[in-house]
Amino acid sequence: MKQQTFIGLGSNLGDSQQILSDAVHKLATLGEVRVSKLYHSAPMGPQDQPHYHNAVAELYTELEPLQLLDQLQAFEQQSGRVRLRHWGERTLDLDLLLYADQEIEHERLVVPHVGLMLRDFVLMPLLDLAPKMVLNGQLLATLPVVKASELEVLADQSWVQEPTV
Ligand code: ATP
Ligand code: MG
Ligand code: MG
Repeated sequence: MKQQTFIGLGSNLGDSQQILSDAVHKLATLGEVRVSKLYHSAPMGPQDQPHYHNAVAELYTELEPLQLLDQLQAFEQQSGRVRLRHWGERTLDLDLLLYADQEIEHERLVVPHVGLMLRDFVLMPLLDLAPKMVLNGQLLATLPVVKASELEVLADQSWVQEPTV
């Protein structure tokens, strides 16, 4: 059965819009995809790194959670991702934010994603796709971090470009 999932996309190395576009095309091989607007955000963690491009994709897929994580990690590797430092710069980060209404506590996979309720660069694009979403009894749209967000919108939902490969 197809499950509704949400994936957080981030990039701050290389041609980030193209890298995220290519990632959306790869996600589309796993099921039906819808994308948020494209955002620009200041880095978390080390501040001596470029700003990020961020977006969220909704994916309807038959894959089980760990199979989906395997695919996301394969796509990260294909983008040439190298791990330099914690929360450091990367060509592509694909985080599984939500998998239907499942709560998963696995050594490789925690869902909902730990940063979900805390990060405006995840919440704002998620709200593009699911404006009325409730988590832990909280209407996400009313969270203080959302109300206070000054995230820059780079482009509306038409930001996805033709694939380069
Ligand atoms: P953060 O998770 O705080 O956003 P990050 O995305 O930079 O940090 P990564 O280096 O991409 O962290 O991933 C580190 C590990 O997190 C991965 O090896 C993966 O197994 C694990 N992980 C746990 N839960 C998730 C999840 N929901 N989505 C993606 N990876 C996850
Ligand atoms: Mg991340
Ligand atoms: Mg990650």
